[in-house]
Amino acid sequence: MISRWESEQSGESTVVPSTTPDITTTVCGACGSQVSGLNGRYACGVCGWVNNWAEGHSRLPSAEEDPDAPKS
Ligand SMILES: [Zn+2]
Repeated sequence: MISRWESEQSGESTVVPSTTPDITTTVCGACGSQVSGLNGRYACGVCGWVNNWAEGHSRLPSAEEDPDAPKS
């Protein structure tokens, strides 16, 4: 008997949520170097400048969403 497990799997649609970070480029706010960052967050490798966390494109997870957070 031929196993048909492959066809069973293909019937299930795998929807992968888009978690690919956006790679963007900006100019360092301190030294003017070109800085690449992910999701609107930048860290300059030349002078150590970082932009404000609130300028990021993605929402920060809350403490409740942290799997490592201590459970009460
Ligand atoms: Zn810099």
